[in-house]
Amino acid sequence: MTRYQVAVTETYADGVQDNPWSVVRDVTAADSAPCHRPIAVKANGHRRLIACGRRLPSDQQCDACRVTVEIVEVRRKRA
Ligand SMILES: [Zn+2]
Repeated sequence: MTRYQVAVTETYADGVQDNPWSVVRDVTAADSAPCHRPIAVKANGHRRLIACGRRLPSDQQCDACRVTVEIVEVRRKRA
């Protein structure tokens, strides 16, 4: 599983009419592992194995390739 830990900071600007919210997402940690079920593709007459995460939709990917985003912190503040 590719896991990203993300900290979210939402800033509100008092008195601003259009789009008073600003959202910043910081990736604080990333963890991954090699693909468990690589798939064969043909390119330029050659067969090669690529990670299933580069080809298949997320619901068909192996546990090593599937992306998980974990929100570890949410801070709300006023500008
Ligand atoms: Zn995979």
